[in-house]
Amino acid sequence: MTVPSGRPPASVADAVAQVALACQIIARFGQEDLTLGHASVRGPDGRTVYIKRKGKALRDVRAEDVIGIALDDPDGYLTPGAHLETVMHLEAYRARPDAGAVIHTHPVYSIAVGATAGGLELLSHDGLLFPDGVPVFDGTAGLVTTPEDGRGVARALGTGRAVLLRNHGILVAGEDISWAVLTALTLERAARIQFIARVLGDPVPIPREVARDLSASKYQEEFAEEYWQDWCRMLEGPR
Ligand SMILES: [Zn+2]
Repeated sequence: MTVPSGRPPASVADAVAQVALACQIIARFGQEDLTLGHASVRGPDGRTVYIKRKGKALRDVRAEDVIGIALDDPDGYLTPGAHLETVMHLEAYRARPDAGAVIHTHPVYSIAVGATAGGLELLSHDGLLFPDGVPVFDGTAGLVTTPEDGRGVARALGTGRAVLLRNHGILVAGEDISWAVLTALTLERAARIQFIARVLGDPVPIPREVARDLSASKYQEEFAEEYWQDWCRMLEGPR
């Protein structure tokens, strides 16, 4: 497979390749859970979402496992072969015209943080990606399968990068697939560091105003593409 950039796709083939690569990357970083979890990309027409179909584990997703769903089809979430929770992606894209990619996974440390009252703390450079914290969706502890709950998740996400689905998982939205993958991996790392810090002692967070200042320099536009290219090289294995 030719590796596309992590920027908004120029072709349907690029969008499909990005979805397959993103699934394999997040699996490699430990966010696989049975055959659950999914990545999606907004296609070059702006109106079609390309998303992993059900039945495959994230590590095994290839181009043939990616299906296209028209955003203006109100029954698109019922497309044969689509994951039950596809509706979350579709509602996120509808609510967020700036979103070019969406990922939903069940990463263990993020689920644990989302199941606590305090939420994510600003304890590391990873936390700097979320200087204003990460909101929690608690509309249901079950699967998000209806347009109503999907819109609830999108509302909780708001204009942010990520939302913790209480007792369930995460949903992240990025301007492109590189930012969506970076956000999913960084949120889980921040949650893991929080767990370790709390075991070791009383956490000392980065002040919120300082975090806002540091965030822009730590997470610059060109870095996301650099990381994306590195993850794609990682998938190719040692040379
Ligand atoms: Zn889920």
